[in-house]
Amino acid sequence: MTKARCLTVFAGMAPLQIRKLPRTSKSGFNPRELGDPLITLPGVGPALATAAHKLGLQTLGDLLFHFPHRHEDFTVQKEIGKLKWGEEATVRCRVEKVALLQTRRRNLRLVKSMVRDGTGYMEAVWYNQDYLAGQLTSGDELILRGTYEGGTGVFKVRSHELLGKQSGGLHTLGYVPVYPTTEKISVKRLRGWLGMMRPLMAQLADPLASSLRAELGLPWRADAIDAMHFPRTLDEFKLAERRLIFEELYLMQVGLLSHRRHFEKERRGAALGAAGRLTCDFIRGLPFSLTSDQKSVCKEISGDLQKAAPMQRLLQGDVGSGKTVVAVYTMLRAVEDGRQAALMAPTEVLAEQHYFSLEQMLLGSGMRLALLSSRLKGVERAELLQGLADGSIDIAIGTHALIQGDVDFRRLAVVVVDEQHRFGVEQREELAVKATRHGVTPHVLHMTATPIPRTLALTLYGDLDVSVIESMPSGRRRIKTWLVPEAKRAGAYGFIREQLDAGRQCYVVCPLIEESEAVEVKAVEGEAERLAATEFRGYRVGLLHGQLPVASKQEAMRLFAAGDTQVLVTTTVVEVGVDVPNATVMVVEEADRFGLAQLHQLRGRVGRGLHESFCLLFGDPRTEQAERRLEAMTTTADGFALADIDLEIRGEGQLFGTRQSGLPDLRLARLIRDLEVLKMARRKAEGLVAADPELGKPENALLKDEIRRVFGDSVKWLDRV
Ligand code: ADP
Ligand code: MG
Repeated sequence: MTKARCLTVFAGMAPLQIRKLPRTSKSGFNPRELGDPLITLPGVGPALATAAHKLGLQTLGDLLFHFPHRHEDFTVQKEIGKLKWGEEATVRCRVEKVALLQTRRRNLRLVKSMVRDGTGYMEAVWYNQDYLAGQLTSGDELILRGTYEGGTGVFKVRSHELLGKQSGGLHTLGYVPVYPTTEKISVKRLRGWLGMMRPLMAQLADPLASSLRAELGLPWRADAIDAMHFPRTLDEFKLAERRLIFEELYLMQVGLLSHRRHFEKERRGAALGAAGRLTCDFIRGLPFSLTSDQKSVCKEISGDLQKAAPMQRLLQGDVGSGKTVVAVYTMLRAVEDGRQAALMAPTEVLAEQHYFSLEQMLLGSGMRLALLSSRLKGVERAELLQGLADGSIDIAIGTHALIQGDVDFRRLAVVVVDEQHRFGVEQREELAVKATRHGVTPHVLHMTATPIPRTLALTLYGDLDVSVIESMPSGRRRIKTWLVPEAKRAGAYGFIREQLDAGRQCYVVCPLIEESEAVEVKAVEGEAERLAATEFRGYRVGLLHGQLPVASKQEAMRLFAAGDTQVLVTTTVVEVGVDVPNATVMVVEEADRFGLAQLHQLRGRVGRGLHESFCLLFGDPRTEQAERRLEAMTTTADGFALADIDLEIRGEGQLFGTRQSGLPDLRLARLIRDLEVLKMARRKAEGLVAADPELGKPENALLKDEIRRVFGDSVKWLDRV
């Protein structure tokens, strides 16, 4: 090992020997640019290029990052003289002579070759590969992998490679990469292509600063990528993988953080004064005192609101943890400063719910609230818009329509977004831009009850500050959850009738039918009719689904909230935020079709009042995953714990459509497994962005290019970084 090519690493690790990569490939072909199409490789025509496209391979760069899923170990070569009977082995030998033989069996022909090394002779046999007879000639150097059948002195060849030609041991020397393949693109072909790419690997620039690399004991990028494909040892492979996982997470974190820096610099918010009388009165007037989590979250928010940079905060709290109070607090801070606030809900039903509960909470405060509903037309709508534009309305509640086209606010300073879990980086950015009025970007509080494992919040919401309400208000009782077998269905209805007779209410959620909304509606209507005619005959049964006209939906919710309807048969439209404290039973039909987060959300609709509440899950889990989900529901009440279980059951790939989060796909990193690396990446990214917020320093130029490349053109916000 020469000094210049040796990197000192941290204690406990062997010094890293830098690999000497080939500068030209054996084929004499020299790939130039990562962005070049695959067709520039020798031997790749349009048909192969199309087939490769199916594997997601379009450019040479794609190929470099098409990593093997394992390596086959050809490191140990056996001498012919030492082969044992029945042993599978790799042998390096020379061809003596070759013959093609027709056997008595009609379809079986053999190629036999006498081969030798320094220790002995044996006969290598191939089945039905006639062409070999023409390919092998005496004196050729061969590597064979196969089984030695000692009794007959025959070596049955499973794979072989002719050395000295183009591939030079690609398929049979050392650790041989095994790739995801398709019918048309064989593993040998991929190895061949990657073999040709090695000179390009050697030229790869490294986006990580040498100091960072040295500090963390990570190899160069060029070496790491080469070692992912062609490692000399397994340790080398592991280190290469670690380096690339770090890189992936680091790029993502730097991207998110610099986006955020940029946002703060570019946008002007309204620096609000300290909390005043209005908020104090509100808190004091509540029929309960805030939990310590609610208090500390309010304090964090208060700190944000007093800064000129617009707040971008995520509030996570399980269903029923009391986020609404925090939302109202945040909005009142704007109002007492003479400004306006808006509360955005994902659906009109929910917006209306919020409107009514806020009206109650703020009774007598002199606050002017307005609900911007799509029902509002003509003069009424014009009046409302006027109120927002002249500032006489303090708090507006509605869906995303609140920040659309013709809606103007005079002094909008705070926006609260309820249940924003379907939002990605880009949508958040868009929201901030759209909500900007007269040059002022409002402070935004995103609230979510879809529990996101804390570790993942760091990634998915890496551009936000995160607050968490962990503890529930005291006195909450655990919602009893049962998985009810079909045989006990009748008994379950009897139990529900007892609850209804005691004055309580019940939701019945019908199965999720993904194929068609029309079918789903039919199912809900059918179930409502059935229940009204049979099990709940004589009780008041209501119906709610997404296809109803807005007015009917609102009427259905109103009747249920007022206690006029006792049983509400519904689809998942009740999933988020609906708050009817008198409802104590949640029935979910075919619960096995629902995801864990969704079930937890549904369950959260009950247990909101003083009465003991119940969740009854019907359904027959047909898969092991579904079984585990339902089992988790009956044993676990904590949303965060459920989120972790969900992640474990589903695997993270599915849980986070990265499309929707606006983040690049993670090729190698697994967030749970690589949590420690993620944290390190976050820390290092924070340091970097603090020192060079615009990534404008020359030493960070490569990093910036790379972030652009991996986040891709689809992520508009990065272009502004
Ligand atoms: P979520 O976080 O799901 O939006 P809500 O804000 O709707 O929860 O609160 C659920 C219920 O808990 C409401 O009825 C609310 O009045 C009540 N609540 C909120 N905070 C407290 C508290 N500190 N003590 C007791 N009850 C509370
Ligand atoms: Mg809520």
